[in-house]
Amino acid sequence: MGLNVAIIGAGVSGLACASELTRHGHRVVVFEKSRGAGGRAPTRWLDRESSPPLGFDHGTQYFHVRSSAFRQVIEQAVSYGVVSPWEGRVVNLSYGQKTPVQDDETRWVGTPGMASLGKFLALELNVQYDTRVTGLVRDSDQFRLTVQSGANSGTHSAESPSELPELFDWVVSAIPCEQVSELFAEFHPPLAKEASKVKSSVNWTCMLSFDQAIPVDFDGALVYDSPLGWICRDSSKPGRAPGERWLLQATSDWSQAHVQLPADKASEMLIDVFRNVLGLSVTPERAVSHRWLYALPETPLDCGYYLDRKAKIAACGDWLSKARVEDAYLSGQSLASEIKSS
Ligand SMILES: Cc1cc2nc3c(=O)[nH]c(=O)nc-3n(C[C@H](O)[C@H](O)[C@H](O)COP(=O)(O)OP(=O)(O)OC[C@H]3O[C@@H](n4cnc5c(N)ncnc54)[C@H](O)[C@@H]3O)c2cc1C
Repeated sequence: MGLNVAIIGAGVSGLACASELTRHGHRVVVFEKSRGAGGRAPTRWLDRESSPPLGFDHGTQYFHVRSSAFRQVIEQAVSYGVVSPWEGRVVNLSYGQKTPVQDDETRWVGTPGMASLGKFLALELNVQYDTRVTGLVRDSDQFRLTVQSGANSGTHSAESPSELPELFDWVVSAIPCEQVSELFAEFHPPLAKEASKVKSSVNWTCMLSFDQAIPVDFDGALVYDSPLGWICRDSSKPGRAPGERWLLQATSDWSQAHVQLPADKASEMLIDVFRNVLGLSVTPERAVSHRWLYALPETPLDCGYYLDRKAKIAACGDWLSKARVEDAYLSGQSLASEIKSS
């Protein structure tokens, strides 16, 4: 008989786990607090109605495909037209010195934005969007979840979490480590304790649009000796709307040191650094900064997943593998295989 599984989080790891379990006949419900799938591999639309529409990959910039399991799913996504290689020119930049990045691995991106990958992985899955899991309750040897729906659409107040009538045999956490520690602190302390071993870095990201092309002969740069760690001509990625859009990512040190900055101030400071890095006096038409409080796990456990067979509680995600899309995917998929076999 199939299992009833609740998965918390529709990022890449949760979706991979859900898809593998569903494929084997289990009944899976994925709960996602935001309005879309993909987690930290999203697309941020500053303005969908403008011409051209203003969209940015403001989390994951690109991903690699190294394993055959991930290759299989990415090949399907390519055939659906939702993932493509990005052939941007990527360089190292240090004190104005530019050297090409010696790396012939393909960089893959979602098209027309990174969020297409999550949307594709969520196809045919039962994902309850806009539903934040706020607690878990044991009911004999099964679980009930307490959720708060409509937090993003305002249909329920933040003070009114409700208990779902549904019972689940297994609960899978597929959320960042800090959120695991909080959610499972009382319900399953061993998992909370594992998660508390890992800390995520902060990341300030700044999205810029320009009314004319910036005259540099590269599309992405790993920046050294600077508050910026990565800059990218986001509009150079395949399937994007025309226009000139750049994405700046600050280093984790700079982001941590400026964690409390208001977003407008972060934009101002990062644009100044961008000018210095390029040696050009560029002025964006539009600038918006986003702070990722839990960007990347700094010292992921690299054990693949967490599984407590007796308690029927499990976890997947990058904090248990490596801070990359492919590793998050493999974490979810391999956890599903373990749950199936138990
Ligand atoms: C700025 C940035 C740049 C990056 N760049 C790259 C890159 O270039 N290449 C690369 O390979 N990787 C990159 N990464 C890392 C990559 O995005 C992650 O490793 C991967 O997406 C993690 O997937 P996940 O499923 O483990 O977690 P997440 O993607 O974080 O998914 C967790 C999901 O759970 C949801 N959630 C959380 N709490 C609850 C709750 N209580 N109830 C319901 N839902 C909940 C969240 O909304 C989210 O959708 C980057 C990440 C960031 C932030």
